[in-house]
Amino acid sequence: MSNDYAAPLSTLDVHLDAVARNWLYLRKMLAAGADCAGVVKADAYGLGAVQVSRALFDQGCRHFFVAHYGEALAVAAALEGRSTTATADLPSVYVLNGPRGAPARDFLQQRFIPVLNSMDDIDYWAQHAPGQPAVVHIDTGMNRFGLDPAQAGEALAQKLKAIDVRYVMSHLACADESNNEMNARQLADFRCALQALGRTYRLSFANSGGIFLGPDYHFDLVRPGCALYGINPTDRPNPMRGVVTLRARITQLRDVPAGATLGYGAACRAVNALKCATVSVGYADGYLRSLTGGGHVFVHGVKCPVLGRVSMDSIIVDVTAVPQVSAGDMAEIIGENQTVDDVAAQAGTIGYEILTSLGPRYKRTYIGT
Ligand SMILES: *Cc1c(COP(=O)(O)O)cnc(C)c1O
Repeated sequence: MSNDYAAPLSTLDVHLDAVARNWLYLRKMLAAGADCAGVVKADAYGLGAVQVSRALFDQGCRHFFVAHYGEALAVAAALEGRSTTATADLPSVYVLNGPRGAPARDFLQQRFIPVLNSMDDIDYWAQHAPGQPAVVHIDTGMNRFGLDPAQAGEALAQKLKAIDVRYVMSHLACADESNNEMNARQLADFRCALQALGRTYRLSFANSGGIFLGPDYHFDLVRPGCALYGINPTDRPNPMRGVVTLRARITQLRDVPAGATLGYGAACRAVNALKCATVSVGYADGYLRSLTGGGHVFVHGVKCPVLGRVSMDSIIVDVTAVPQVSAGDMAEIIGENQTVDDVAAQAGTIGYEILTSLGPRYKRTYIGT
């Protein structure tokens, strides 16, 4: 019987071999002397920071960026025991949101490297962790984190003597738009601020998109996130490999007569008689409610539109065009037929939000470890 009641309702396959290939691809693009980090914040964009960090480490990645202290703990625990005894082989774990969420002594004990995003952060770190490693962030256009470029000067350079500055970094606002003049402007402002500091530091500037803007943007360390996970970091055809296969089970098939309504709000009415499938994925699984009206899935390779509103735990799809469908079959949500960026476009959002919304209910399988 095809409708195996014991089978999982939805499956999320994470192709770690593709993550590894994506990281190696990016590293190969880099200007001589530049290192390639891995951004694994938000549980590696929802895919599993433990597994992703290990896969990256095994390819040679030694720089890991997270947003929160707690995420750093998870990455450090995942990588424990993987290094050789050589100090150079130990991973560095950077905390983008700064030395917050735990006492400075905990950061130090764990050897976490905070990104210092303000003058207050710098004073705090100099006081509580004198001479200890940190990254200094200079804002060049986000107005979110980082020192104002006007603050870069001799006074700041003096303060930084109390800190082991591993990198001075900035962050691009429009890196995925190759023709956006903001990119060159941010690069120029970064260089200008560095000059005002009057001495040389190692530098970090590019996220995924920034790597594709060319070697001028690479400096000493690049920080790709989305590209590792198969999201297109460019405005050209996607050079990255897909990393996710997401499927959900058809739990019921129904013959719906013309005139019947479908789902909450009776917001959709069948014009003609239809065959519908109830698919076990909903907005609680990150199948966003905004996919109402515009989403589709693939059943036996056939594109099937979502009918009616996306529910918390299920959607209804039109399978009239798939005569061979049976209850128990899987519908593909992300995979060979449509990418994470395709689903994001249907939902009116970006691939990042699709991945980080996936949630805990899927049966996750890590492939290629
Ligand atoms: C999230 C983040 C990145 C990674 O960006 P992608 O666009 O996913 O490559 C790099 N740097 C900073 C500061 C970030 O916050």
